[in-house]
Amino acid sequence: MATTYDAIIIGTGQAGPSLAVRLAGAGMKVAIIERKRFGGTCVNNGCIPTKTLVASARAAHMARRAAEYGVRIDSSITVDMKKVKERKDVVVRRSNEGVEKWLKSTEKLTVYEGHACFEDAHQVRVGDERLEAGKFFINVGGRASIPPLPGIDQVSYFNNSTMMDVDFRPEHLIVIGGSYVGLEFAQMYRRFGSEVTIVEMGPRLIQREDEDVSEAVRAILETEGINIRLSAECIAMEKRGAKVAVNVDCSSGDKTVLGSHLLLAVGRVPNTDDLGLENAGVAVNQRGYIQVDDQLRTNVPGIYALGDCNGRGAFTHTSYNDYEIVTANLLDGDPRQVSDRITAYALYIDPPLGRAGMTEAEVRKSGRKALLGIRPMARVGRAVEKAETQGFMKVLVDAETKEILGASLLGIECDEVIHSILDVMYAKAPYTVIQRAVHIHPTVTELIPTLLGELKPLA
Ligand SMILES: Cc1cc2nc3c(=O)[nH]c(=O)nc-3n(C[C@H](O)[C@H](O)[C@H](O)COP(=O)(O)OP(=O)(O)OC[C@H]3O[C@@H](n4cnc5c(N)ncnc54)[C@H](O)[C@@H]3O)c2cc1C
Repeated sequence: MATTYDAIIIGTGQAGPSLAVRLAGAGMKVAIIERKRFGGTCVNNGCIPTKTLVASARAAHMARRAAEYGVRIDSSITVDMKKVKERKDVVVRRSNEGVEKWLKSTEKLTVYEGHACFEDAHQVRVGDERLEAGKFFINVGGRASIPPLPGIDQVSYFNNSTMMDVDFRPEHLIVIGGSYVGLEFAQMYRRFGSEVTIVEMGPRLIQREDEDVSEAVRAILETEGINIRLSAECIAMEKRGAKVAVNVDCSSGDKTVLGSHLLLAVGRVPNTDDLGLENAGVAVNQRGYIQVDDQLRTNVPGIYALGDCNGRGAFTHTSYNDYEIVTANLLDGDPRQVSDRITAYALYIDPPLGRAGMTEAEVRKSGRKALLGIRPMARVGRAVEKAETQGFMKVLVDAETKEILGASLLGIECDEVIHSILDVMYAKAPYTVIQRAVHIHPTVTELIPTLLGELKPLA
């Protein structure tokens, strides 16, 4: 006999818990199923632990720079990796346990711990139990992709999840993948004191960004002593005693990098291959992402997909926004949709990159008339005062509508500053609204109006 619910949620990522609590609060009988750790990737292996580690790494970096600020530290700077991990674990545990307690104490909500698999479009199996419902909400997220690189089966390696158990300083960490996850770990471990080499197949780092952004990020990382090997088209691995050798076959430099530890950061795949989606008839695309419409409905009536597994976003804020869209439509009579969302995210190297909307390359490709403003952080008073002048801010505006098309802000506090631009984009207001705004002095954001007063036609 199956237990019947009004709604079943699979996965406790960034959409599932809020959705479960909201539906239960609306009077539905709800079940939520989690097979690993409450809170999913962001809480346990993603945003929260990495940003906690980035904070420790920054503390070490600033301690080493103390003399520049006139502060003398009369002993050597060492990083206690056990303490670093302990601090991270405390922050993660607080969040993870918070989600678990919240779910388990919510009335009309039953929590199942186990792997959920669809039997058909109305039933899932969790261990020995069968659960049925009229509505299913899939929030199963993703995991690190492990591509079949030559030699991969002969070496041991970390991914973003197993890196969370590291409580020692690798002598030489080789990071395969020069994109968002790889760069955060690379800089963090360099600051912890490891030698670090980034091996990237493409000709530049973070290839979705503009070339000037990639170049500035490369300069920031190289200034800290990180080795970067680009165009490593024939990556292969081999065990050499206690070490790992990575053949990078780059166009210049040594063909092999010898490291003590290896981190694979080469993208993510959705957790949809073991969910029995074929039993329910739910359509996925070639890469395994569940296909959804603008209100996150799959092709099967009553089944929705939220978060990373639908391929419409890859961030905590996009997953949470999926929850808002689904409840707005189901409970509030408010027709919110995914296409109302503006692309926005940050890369948490230090200084961070804050991004909103289109890149310069995308604007150029669109062929529209545009205006461009660029200001180096060396011309931002607050950055000079803090002696953190790496990077630049770039904004693109539609020359006809005057609406902001996009921004790439690379510099101190830019993960926050970007919101001054993002909110005006959401308001669909002309850029002149911010240009005439009076911002607080001295902040990085105070230079956004100035930057918008210096726009030039995009050549
Ligand atoms: C290293 C790293 C750093 C990141 N940093 C950031 C950042 O700074 N900012 C940001 O916005 N995003 C960041 N992200 C991305 C962010 O973590 C995800 O976008 C976010 O977690 C959204 O995930 P989700 O809601 O789709 O599901 P997830 O958080 O992935 O959770 C899915 C849950 O479903 C469970 N599950 C899967 N299959 C089943 C099943 N069959 N049965 C039961 N349960 C199942 C899983 O165990 C998991 O708990 C980072 C990711 C990584 C890897």
